[in-house]
Amino acid sequence: MHKFAATACAVAVMGGMALSGSPAVAQSDTFVSIGTGGVTGVYYPTGGAIQRLVNRGRGEHGIRVAVESTGGSVFNLNAIRQGELDMGVAQSDQQYNAFNGVGPFEEQGPFEELRAVFSLHGEPFTVVARADSGIETFEDLPGHRVNIGNPGSGQRATMERLMELYGWTEDDFSQVSELQSSEQSQALCDNNVDAIVFTVGHPNGSIQEATTTCEAVLVPVAGELIDGLVEENPYYAYTVIPGGMYENNPEDVRTFGPKATLVTSADLGNEVVYTVVSAVFDNLDDFRRLHPAFSTLNPEEMVRDGLSAPLHDGAAEYFREHDLID
Ligand code: GLU
Repeated sequence: MHKFAATACAVAVMGGMALSGSPAVAQSDTFVSIGTGGVTGVYYPTGGAIQRLVNRGRGEHGIRVAVESTGGSVFNLNAIRQGELDMGVAQSDQQYNAFNGVGPFEEQGPFEELRAVFSLHGEPFTVVARADSGIETFEDLPGHRVNIGNPGSGQRATMERLMELYGWTEDDFSQVSELQSSEQSQALCDNNVDAIVFTVGHPNGSIQEATTTCEAVLVPVAGELIDGLVEENPYYAYTVIPGGMYENNPEDVRTFGPKATLVTSADLGNEVVYTVVSAVFDNLDDFRRLHPAFSTLNPEEMVRDGLSAPLHDGAAEYFREHDLID
């Protein structure tokens, strides 16, 4: 047990490189690092769920997953490109942007080796405001103190896209902050900001914290500009955060969002990816029970929706064998 904790820590420090030379690790173990997000989001427990299902079979396949909390989608995609992470969770819009070298990835250019593994839960673009702020819709944000997300997060990238769409700059807000997802609910309840944004599956700990600690309210993101965005981009869909899911928020709230996806690089071996995919797909009922945001996952959508990069060969092999793709 102690040995394993020390090993997991070394993996995190090494950025997920295989540690076959380390005395604490059996020679046969292959380490696979998965980059996630802040600890109160859904990416972190998503990584944990994959880790649990893969690692319980490590006696047979020798593959061991290590999960890292990170700054989010854009960070994960860049770290995979640099070989610092093996796999990562990323929003479908940012998967598209990285593969095509647009948006936050314009400078780096297209990441041609990026590979999709499968998609997961939907991630509504979620805006939460203080009840005393007077903010009732997304269009009310100008003039207020807004946390636009840490650089590297998916919500920051989506928010920047929306600001461009609405013709806003940071100067349109009375104050802009860049807090991590795990810090922003407290900032909202401490009255340091009026509104926060988070592209995230539901329910999650962060929004639960904001709605129970200080009666914060979910704000709709809808209208003609959003209609155009969703119609033009297949990686977005309309979505509703159900009324009653969070305290003090009895009504459905309309918004839109990407899907969470698992991604990697063509450099990761087919056998490793095949093993990770089988651990999840062979045990999908167990997987769905590991987080409430997974309850509606179905395999047909997971191999199809939100995947802009080509499927990794190891994933495609599993999906073909199970008649999920042609
Ligand atoms: N979608 C967020 C991001 O890309 C993370 C959401 C989560 O932590 O569940 O940074």
